[in-house]
Amino acid sequence: MIWRNWSGRQEAEPLAVASPGDEAGFVDAVALARREGWSVRAVGAAHSHSRVAAPDGLLVETDDWHGLVDGDVVDGIGHDGQPVVRVRSGTRIHQLGEPLHRLGLALVNQGDIDRQSIAGATATGTHGTGPTLQNLSAAVVGARLVTAGGEVVDCDATNEPDLFALARHSLGAVGLVTELSLRVRPRYRLDERQWFAPPGEIMGDLDRLVADTRHFEFFWVPERDLCACKSLDELPPDAEPDPVDGPIAPVEQVAKRERRGWSHQIISSIRDDRHTEMEYGVPAEAGPACFAEIRELILERFTDLQWPVEYRTLAADDQLISVAAGRPTVTISVHQDVALDDRPLFEACEEVFRRHDGRPHWGKVHYRTGGELADLHVGYRRWWELRDRYDPDGVFVTADLAALRP
Ligand SMILES: Cc1cc2nc3c(=O)[nH]c(=O)nc-3n(C[C@H](O)[C@H](O)[C@H](O)COP(=O)(O)OP(=O)(O)OC[C@H]3O[C@@H](n4cnc5c(N)ncnc54)[C@H](O)[C@@H]3O)c2cc1C
Repeated sequence: MIWRNWSGRQEAEPLAVASPGDEAGFVDAVALARREGWSVRAVGAAHSHSRVAAPDGLLVETDDWHGLVDGDVVDGIGHDGQPVVRVRSGTRIHQLGEPLHRLGLALVNQGDIDRQSIAGATATGTHGTGPTLQNLSAAVVGARLVTAGGEVVDCDATNEPDLFALARHSLGAVGLVTELSLRVRPRYRLDERQWFAPPGEIMGDLDRLVADTRHFEFFWVPERDLCACKSLDELPPDAEPDPVDGPIAPVEQVAKRERRGWSHQIISSIRDDRHTEMEYGVPAEAGPACFAEIRELILERFTDLQWPVEYRTLAADDQLISVAAGRPTVTISVHQDVALDDRPLFEACEEVFRRHDGRPHWGKVHYRTGGELADLHVGYRRWWELRDRYDPDGVFVTADLAALRP
């Protein structure tokens, strides 16, 4: 069997495939891999552009393991006063919207799309936009996983805190995650506005746009040298219930629009055009200068580029290997068509990101070595030390991951 990721750019040949439909199936998968001496790699929706999900031993599919556990709120207090729900690891983010809504709840934030599995999205630090909003891994307050030793372990900030620190942002390298406890919030409605503006105008007003909006982002479209902007603001609970108008399209394809709806209907878009992507997080204060250099580079050297550059904000967190660990962050991503060679564009952009102390997104293309990653992330060596303690035989280390060892 040949495994391919969403874009088709990453391929791998797993030795065997398991598709557990219950927790015992995940335990059996680890036991089988140990007997055979195979590595184990869980795969969610295979939406990572990097090789983080590429299996070289046992591929564990998680599509048959989804839904809210107990279909209820686990704990209404204790996590900054916010409710917590328990979710099976293979649940796609779009499968969470309605069940949470029925409980009067919603995810705190989402990314551009909602097709990822919750375990896959949190494993790589998937994020949306908003200066007060952290990545999805930061919303994980507990995890249940099958360890390399085949045990089912629950962990959180007080019970097995080291394992928890790994499991919430695991790169698939810590165990087979079967359930995640997620901090959510009361459901909320958003007012979305989309418009085009020249980059000079947006950059001149950027601080205000970011500060005044719950989620602000723009896609700079090189062929038009225009920014497709999107802002989402929370509506008061008593605001008029306008229906969502029309299909959700990528922001760069929409001239001007305003619509309203519940957060799970509004935040994510549909992105079916196959592409590959590089994304870096730079310190927030470096964002404008870094974007200016990327724009200049593309206008000078990549004049045929048909794909936009995305600019988003991300709140700091305290996770070991998060792109936003310890610093408010701006994320900038560059896309290329899957039919084209992405390397010249991505290598040139990576040079710019390096100059701005950028950290690569774990689920997107980068060319950094383990030593360089250790220089970029204060917690990187610690993450590996802890990982090796819980999995000394490297059951969850593929050859691709081993290449990133510091
Ligand atoms: C069109 C598109 C849009 C995107 N938009 C965004 C965005 O807005 N923001 C952003 O930050 N990223 C974005 N991404 C990147 C994407 O969110 C991440 O790569 C994410 O990790 C993909 O989730 P997945 O379920 O496909 O996981 P996969 O790619 O299948 O796996 C990712 C990692 O999770 C691990 N994993 C999965 N399930 C388990 C489990 N049960 N136990 C242990 N480990 C597990 C895998 O082993 C792997 O290491 C986008 C990608 C695409 C293709």
